[in-house]
Amino acid sequence: MAQFTPHGKHLIGGEWVAGETTFASSPAHGPAHDYAVGSPELVARACEAAAAAFDAYAATSREARAAFLEAIADEIEARADAVTEIGTQESGLPEARLNGERGRTTGQLQLFAEHIRKGDYLDRRTDKALPDRQPAPRPELRMMQIPVGPVAVFGASNFPLAFSTAGGDTAAALAAGCPVVVKGHSAHPGTGEIIAEAVKAAIESTGMPKGVFALIQGGDRKVGEALVTDPRIKAVGFTGSLAGGRALFDLCAARPEPIPFFGELGSVNPMFVLPAAAAARADEIGTGWAGSLTMGAGQFCTNPGIAVVTDGPDADRLVAAAKAALEKVGPQTMLTDGIAKAYREGADRMNRSNAVQPVLTTESAARNASPNLYETTTDAFLSEHQLGEEVFGPLGLVIRVKSADEMERLARGFEGQLTATLHTDAGDAELARRLLPILAQKAGRVLANGFPTGVEVADAMVHGGPYPASTNFGATSVGTLSIRRFLRPVSFQNLPDYLIEGDLA
Ligand code: NAP
Repeated sequence: MAQFTPHGKHLIGGEWVAGETTFASSPAHGPAHDYAVGSPELVARACEAAAAAFDAYAATSREARAAFLEAIADEIEARADAVTEIGTQESGLPEARLNGERGRTTGQLQLFAEHIRKGDYLDRRTDKALPDRQPAPRPELRMMQIPVGPVAVFGASNFPLAFSTAGGDTAAALAAGCPVVVKGHSAHPGTGEIIAEAVKAAIESTGMPKGVFALIQGGDRKVGEALVTDPRIKAVGFTGSLAGGRALFDLCAARPEPIPFFGELGSVNPMFVLPAAAAARADEIGTGWAGSLTMGAGQFCTNPGIAVVTDGPDADRLVAAAKAALEKVGPQTMLTDGIAKAYREGADRMNRSNAVQPVLTTESAARNASPNLYETTTDAFLSEHQLGEEVFGPLGLVIRVKSADEMERLARGFEGQLTATLHTDAGDAELARRLLPILAQKAGRVLANGFPTGVEVADAMVHGGPYPASTNFGATSVGTLSIRRFLRPVSFQNLPDYLIEGDLA
């Protein structure tokens, strides 16, 4: 028997609200269900409720918000089996992945609870008054971070839990003291609903204002447009495509009151395999690369789509090892029909391009994708822009370079990335030292001798990077630093003692 049968409604101001029309979900397996289509009117109601909740929620103690985040985690765990059931049906991801992702999601909520309890995120600074300073006295200044207001969250298709309804963006915003209006992803509306049910239960058990969280299901692009242009929304967290993110970013910038749009978009995550590392372990790196490239059907934003290696026998070994490992993978189910179609189109573009040579080409049908592998040169790569664009799925491109100088030239040619990787041994030290500062200019995270899939949720993590990896290079969407997106520094000057209370004290 099904663990969970969705009712298909939106959650607004603490109430489940039906819509006038519905759309059917498109699960990878299991039954489809009908969901209420969102509308600008419903978005406006959710934003009104969020704005009404803001003052009271922003004024809650850090301890109260921490308890709220922990209650959400507990309510999600209480629905564990049902979450996994609907999540696997909708996404086609395996049960073990959904279970692991649930742990990551509740772990993030608990991490933010601990983070705000400590209070460091407020970044409080005090400049003591210097009344006798000449030629003019100095006032007392107290600076701290305050919540920005209601936040819109667009969940990711590829992380139905950890980057979606109560995922990293929502946890960071709620921790900061900001109400959240989630635009449900149409790829997993039922998973969104059961998580919203958990948040609703946590709101009720901890006595939080009802408007502090809303879920508006999609089914119509007007929902996202209305949400980012609603004057009550003060910031947006988004994970998705470059095209969708850019469209919404532009809407945010064009508002009478522009607001920050924190979009985590696409990336090809180049790996630079330096000569000594290639000589020592080309096969191991090739096999490991294939594993990272096909993990989750290649549907990770940190998927390393490009390997740069010096031409020669070590490059041949790396390519042969990668090809052999990719041949064993076979077709995998993609998250949505649309993502599977986009993958096929990306592979078709590569197949038609004169700038690449095929190493492994496969046919992908329906909602499946099989790995593809190509090779190219530095000049071809730098002259054909689309080779540097992400193909979301298990598609790899090897760029063979002739020299260290050419590797450096190529590194300088990349656009902004979420990650860049160095495979390096002691014999590569000089070249690695040349590349490291270049890659640090290009990416939010630079890693050595590993693969970028698997993003640790931690204090020192950065999941972001220069455009087009993200729309705001000063921010991260993973880790405790992500709370800064939803805070604003305010300086309080010469406040009388009776106003120095709460977090200001
Ligand atoms: P998407 O098509 O950009 O959709 C993301 C969300 O934005 C959905 O809720 C979608 O609504 C909405 N949306 C997109 N375009 C819109 C527009 N013009 N107006 C209003 N709303 C709009 O991305 P996706 O298909 O979910 O994910 C696949 C892509 O995301 C991949 O290409 C990958 O590059 C990228 N991605 C990036 C990361 C990262 O961390 N950087 C992670 C995962 C995926 P609907 O639900 O109505 O479609």
